[in-house]
Amino acid sequence: MKEENNVLNGVKAVVVDLDGTIYDKTGLAQRIVARLWWCLPLLAAERFARRNAHYVQFASEEEFFGFFFETMARGHWWGAGIARAWYFEVYLPTMVGLIRRYHHPRKEVLELIREAKAKGLKVAIYSDYGAVVEKLEALGIAPDMFDLLISAPELGALKPSEPCARRVLDMIEATPETTLFIGDRDDKDGASARAVGARFLKI
Ligand SMILES: [Mg+2]
Repeated sequence: MKEENNVLNGVKAVVVDLDGTIYDKTGLAQRIVARLWWCLPLLAAERFARRNAHYVQFASEEEFFGFFFETMARGHWWGAGIARAWYFEVYLPTMVGLIRRYHHPRKEVLELIREAKAKGLKVAIYSDYGAVVEKLEALGIAPDMFDLLISAPELGALKPSEPCARRVLDMIEATPETTLFIGDRDDKDGASARAVGARFLKI
């Protein structure tokens, strides 16, 4: 008997995490530090702001990033404007360039996505960072194969925000009972699935 992927049984929509799930991100954090050694304090401030933004829900992307960059600037010589410019013009493009050069898609995850698409299921990419299209293109994956590309900050928070996960389901017209979340982190992707009552597959 042919072995089938029965994780998709009864599933009508799949919500897939990007970093660490679509591709193996082993070594990426170290590569970012090696590349951006000249701005280590900004990297540290980004981690600090990310930790502080956990479990805070904002009404919009603009409010989220307003808080995020204010937090990055707190106690430092740079202001929120510099933090914002660095994040979008240095940090994210550096990450995308390193992914393009050193990282590869996880074949088993891509196969699962293709199988889901072949079955007519909705497939969304739900990231905790921005630059979703740029990262997919860097990995050689066509962004238009997905029904939705979204990041949690665009919806006003970070994973595992319950309102954000619910918005994702709404945007692809999915119900929690028939949705499968796929991700590499139980505390982010698994918790997002549990927040809305959906299933979770850990990579
Ligand atoms: Mg991840």
